[in-house]
Amino acid sequence: MAQATILVVEDEIDILEVVDFNLQQAGFKVLKATDGGEGHALARREHPDLVVLDLMLPGMDGKEVCRRLKQGEDTRHIPVLMLTALSSETDRIIGFEIGADDYLTKPFSPRELVLRVQAILRRFQEQEDAAAPLKLDDLVIDPERHSVKAGGRDLDLTATEFKLLYHLASRAGRVQTRQMLLERVWGYAYEGYARTVDTHVRRLRKKLGDLSDRIETVRGMGYRFRDES
Ligand code: CA
Repeated sequence: MAQATILVVEDEIDILEVVDFNLQQAGFKVLKATDGGEGHALARREHPDLVVLDLMLPGMDGKEVCRRLKQGEDTRHIPVLMLTALSSETDRIIGFEIGADDYLTKPFSPRELVLRVQAILRRFQEQEDAAAPLKLDDLVIDPERHSVKAGGRDLDLTATEFKLLYHLASRAGRVQTRQMLLERVWGYAYEGYARTVDTHVRRLRKKLGDLSDRIETVRGMGYRFRDES
């Protein structure tokens, strides 16, 4: 992958410098803006691969910048990672409603920010790669339409269940550890959240009905989609 460009919009110079330094160390090209208007203009002009956007900014705030980016024909595809000092559930929901792709609450470690940026870029890359429908006997998974048919029956899956199924099925016959699934399906590793995977697999199996045994538990390792072909 070519060197990705990250635009960081942050008015606190100390944070801006630390983020800039760490992203550059990780191999990214960094563009910087210290207010919302400038950030928005820079995003439109430079088309960065991702925007790290502070919520509280002088002038146009982060919410408005995000809204405009997600409404703009030429900028809506750019993923946005919001930085915020607010951590309540409501603020998170507001962030996602205006289209932010992920969230990081201050104070955060620069390392966590870099990992998060890498995870989002990977996720977006995979979505772009994953256009063709996947057919495995009775199961048809269509990433573009976000639909799953099992034996002709439409399955009603949540976004995460869909990603989990797609990830397993597209790697049929290969064991996926819980850690791998957390990183690739959830986007980054929540430490100690391996049970999240188990819970989702359980729900997914229930919805798969007759095809539930296609997802095998590999003791002590993780899960594998059974390859019948
Ligand atoms: Ca700020």
